[in-house]
Amino acid sequence: MKCGKCDDEAVIKIPYANISLCARHFTEWLENRFERVVEKYKMFDGSDRIGVAVSGGKDSTTLLHLMNKLAQKRGFEIVGIHIHLGIDMGKGYSDKSLEFALKNFQMLGVKYKLINVKEKYGFTIDEAKFKIRRPICSTCGLVKRYSMEEIAEEEGLDTVVTGHNLNDMAQFVLSGYFSGDVNNLSRLKPVLPPTRGYKVKKVKPLFLIYEKEILTYAILNNIPFIYDSCPHTFRVGGATQDKIRRKLEEMEDEIPGFMLLLVQNFTDKIQEPLEVIYSKVEEVSKCKICGRPTTKDREICSFCATKMKLTSVSR
Ligand code: SF4
Ligand code: ZN
Ligand code: ZN
Repeated sequence: MKCGKCDDEAVIKIPYANISLCARHFTEWLENRFERVVEKYKMFDGSDRIGVAVSGGKDSTTLLHLMNKLAQKRGFEIVGIHIHLGIDMGKGYSDKSLEFALKNFQMLGVKYKLINVKEKYGFTIDEAKFKIRRPICSTCGLVKRYSMEEIAEEEGLDTVVTGHNLNDMAQFVLSGYFSGDVNNLSRLKPVLPPTRGYKVKKVKPLFLIYEKEILTYAILNNIPFIYDSCPHTFRVGGATQDKIRRKLEEMEDEIPGFMLLLVQNFTDKIQEPLEVIYSKVEEVSKCKICGRPTTKDREICSFCATKMKLTSVSR
């Protein structure tokens, strides 16, 4: 299989674009695509200091490399963020993830900020699994969002970017339809302005790039990343979520570009009308413990409530 742009051997076939590309042309193609998506959705208009959340996996490390290139062109500043969640389960997952995040920060020479959840808040995500009834990914998500807001405030960041890819987004869209979760769907967009008393814009710059394309880019460009998945992934996502993801991949094989159209049409044509109908302006007040925003009817924010449960049970 020859590259569609030169005589070299192609390394990847992109069926929905009807082209095969060699390593050099694929790298160029993906970087252009990334920039076009950033441009089309005006992702960084008004952003000066952007935090890049890096877990150490392929998506977030690739995002860091792409953001680093873009920052040099556009003249904004980036700060890498890594949160050590305390996930071990006999596999040292968080320690290994930290190692890969650090490797990337150092190889690119970007400034970075680390948070160790155990040192800062006194508990680990593994402990939450055994001590809190709520699904572990929901506690983990809460801790990540809270830490991220805290870092953003300390570092004066106006924007935080995360590595959600097209397959993740397609799964969110389909799961939202499947469960009728219109509130979540109405907030599912690639650029989320500061809401509910928070000051940071959240952006998903990889939301139109396939997982396979990101993986290929990472390998071709020698980006170091952790191959292991979080040991909690499969227990928590549940069989239904796994099946939705697999079915989407099967649909993609049968109808090239299926996920891209699903997510792009949702974003460009469906999300906004949903937001108009379903998004409420939530009144917020200040958490009595940490002073961060909480919903009007709660004196203590969900993070502080979770932290209290975890630290008091362990005494
Ligand atoms: Fe956290 Fe769940 Fe992701 Fe593991 S799979 S890092 S527990 S959100
Ligand atoms: Zn080529
Ligand atoms: Zn609080």
